[in-house]
Amino acid sequence: MSGSEEDIIRSRGNNERKDTERYLSANRYYRSLFGEKVYRIALDAGCTCPNRDGTLGYGGCIFCSGSGSGEFASDRSLSIRQQLASAKSRVSAKILSGKYIAYFQNFTNTYGDEEDLNRKYEEALSDPEVVGISIATRPDCISERMYGILTELASKTHVWIELGLQTIHEKTAVWMRRGYDLSCFDKTVKRLASIDGNLDVIVHVILDLPGETKSQMLETIDHCSELPVHGIKIANLNILKGTDLAFEYEVSPFPLMERDEYIAFLGECICHLRPDIVIYRMTGDGARRSLIAPSWILDKRTVRNRITAYFREKNIVQGSYWISRRLNPS
Ligand code: SF4
Repeated sequence: MSGSEEDIIRSRGNNERKDTERYLSANRYYRSLFGEKVYRIALDAGCTCPNRDGTLGYGGCIFCSGSGSGEFASDRSLSIRQQLASAKSRVSAKILSGKYIAYFQNFTNTYGDEEDLNRKYEEALSDPEVVGISIATRPDCISERMYGILTELASKTHVWIELGLQTIHEKTAVWMRRGYDLSCFDKTVKRLASIDGNLDVIVHVILDLPGETKSQMLETIDHCSELPVHGIKIANLNILKGTDLAFEYEVSPFPLMERDEYIAFLGECICHLRPDIVIYRMTGDGARRSLIAPSWILDKRTVRNRITAYFREKNIVQGSYWISRRLNPS
């Protein structure tokens, strides 16, 4: 066991928790970094994706909507500065801190002309209220030049790189047309994590993918816990209009977890997750206008309250299983 693992285990010895201390939320992390809550502004850099431009395929991942998994981003015809201004004007009344993270969300935001992308990142960072940048991409789309750009960015601001893994299981990855294998993901996470400076790697995982058992889903969480991953976004599978998944669901409907079953399983995943991994998301976030199923995620407040109540009732604590496995490796 490494020294840092021992520190993690020691710091988690007390099982009595306040609700806000049961897991390491993004808000807690932001407060530790910036002293207050910050808001992520979704931006569209005008990118495409190798799964869509014909390099690897044309249809995209089976669940990906036409907006490239960026349902809430701004209009791509606007400049980055204009997108930021318009998003800020919509939320400024409730964002008292005036601190924002520029989140390049749609499609693959390191894929394309690197110098042009770098100009867009810098344009976002030139806004004095932007305190960091988050870039969603794929592990097979970071060129040597892009590693150089990210290293440079990480030396002057806080950078988050978000990689969509979804599952470690090859059969599901092929079904969803992800287009890269697990070793590519692992290698990229390790290389990104070794960059000097403020760079955090966030992994995206989807629970309830058709054909996967709960133990397989837990294996995905366990795998992420063994990598130098800083954060995770966990989502339940959302079926969005116009996707190939929606077509498959209509032709041959498959079961999706109901809300309470999902929350109970989520609790298990949180116990498996290494305790220092920041949790940025615990459910899917399909936009009302495009969501087909499951409809329960639309009632966000109830879902949030149910998660809090369930975690309290069952004494769910992030990493409790991860710790017990380290203390009793058999
Ligand atoms: S990699 Fe991302 S943007 Fe590309 S098709 Fe898959 S979900 Fe969509």
